[in-house]
Amino acid sequence: MSCLFCKIIEGSIPSTAVYQDELCYAFADINPQAPVHVLLAPREHIASLAESNEGDQALLGHLLGAVAEIARAKGLAKGYRVVINTGADGGQTVDHLHVHLLGGRALSWPPG
Ligand code: AMP
Ligand code: ZN
Repeated sequence: MSCLFCKIIEGSIPSTAVYQDELCYAFADINPQAPVHVLLAPREHIASLAESNEGDQALLGHLLGAVAEIARAKGLAKGYRVVINTGADGGQTVDHLHVHLLGGRALSWPPG
């Protein structure tokens, strides 16, 4: 298995766990762009949001619910941003679907 995030999820590459359940694993981003920068990935390998299909809808909803729970646990009462970079134009660099949770500072809009 050559996928970086699959290796992180299975534990063969170390990470700082933030949250986990039977469907997903959340860990600290190695290059944080905000005081809180968490990555949440499904345990199942899906290459990107563009590669997801109708059968993944419950999983995708679960990821959003989990990210809201993590944001509450991190005390992000003033708000936060949830991002899913998708494909080359979307800036995706790791081809395993993941949700970025960014918070702890005011974030500008639009992104670059
Ligand atoms: P993306 O550009 O949306 O594909 O996001 C990939 C993210 O993975 C980037 O924010 C990287 O900083 C992060 N990243 C890459 N390698 C690791 C790692 N070993 N542990 C934690 N985060 C990582
Ligand atoms: Zn993977």
